[in-house]
Amino acid sequence: MNTTPSSHDKIEPGKIWLVGAGPGDPDLLTLRAARLVMGARVIVHDGLVDPRILAMAPAGARLVSVAKRRSRHSMPQEEINALLVSEARAGRDVIRLKGGDPFVFGRGGEEAEAARAAGVAVEVVPGISAAIGAAAAAQMPLTHRDAASVVSFVAGQCKGLSEQNWAGLAGHGRTLVIYMGLANADPIADKLMADGLAPDTPVAVVENAARPEMRVLHGPLAGLGELVHKNKVVSPALIVIGAITALQDNAIAEMAVESQA
Ligand code: SAH
Repeated sequence: MNTTPSSHDKIEPGKIWLVGAGPGDPDLLTLRAARLVMGARVIVHDGLVDPRILAMAPAGARLVSVAKRRSRHSMPQEEINALLVSEARAGRDVIRLKGGDPFVFGRGGEEAEAARAAGVAVEVVPGISAAIGAAAAAQMPLTHRDAASVVSFVAGQCKGLSEQNWAGLAGHGRTLVIYMGLANADPIADKLMADGLAPDTPVAVVENAARPEMRVLHGPLAGLGELVHKNKVVSPALIVIGAITALQDNAIAEMAVESQA
């Protein structure tokens, strides 16, 4: 029996892995993500993936950047979908590496749909989303029994900002985390104050969370735009709104005592 593959044999399609690369620090990868990156033949990654993580790929791996920046779309989503599908159809497992988690503002849903539509197997590997990484790195608990029992993640891009209904997402007992909101800091503050938030609501901006160059800036909601502009905050950054931004270890302890009094 001849078992040698010939050119007539059907190629076994590869799989598309939608993999979360976390906020930056390679130590924050899941073991599964690390294993996939270290064994990759093809990695299709966006601009947020930390270079230290890309450096973990084997020497022979092909790295394709489809970096998306706010004003510079280097590859439209349809082309990314088509690239993933064609690599898989050519018999290669594709590691689609994304900053944070693939299913939190990562367009992972669209890529999974494209894979399913093409009949290509797809698997999702979660990652530490920026909000979770930022909270840990800045020691800013997103929930706290004395300060917040609700946490929401919203996208603060220009497109559609005014149509988004954030009413009730921020305020007493709630934490609001805004992704992609840097360029819109002023309209975001105005929008939240128009929804009834007090101008002195504490806010924090976390730039480059979970990376060596992380900065955490604090101020009142009314001064959010100024905080961003004055400190020349750069992307990637998160805006966090709520009392938990003003809590650091001691403050938390004091608050707990006050609430019992
Ligand atoms: N899928 C990603 C989010 C992609 S949207 C995740 O789960 O984290 C891109 C936005 O994520 C950026 O504009 C920024 O608001 C945020 N972001 C990603 N990495 C970040 C980091 N290291 N520090 C602060 N914000 C980050």
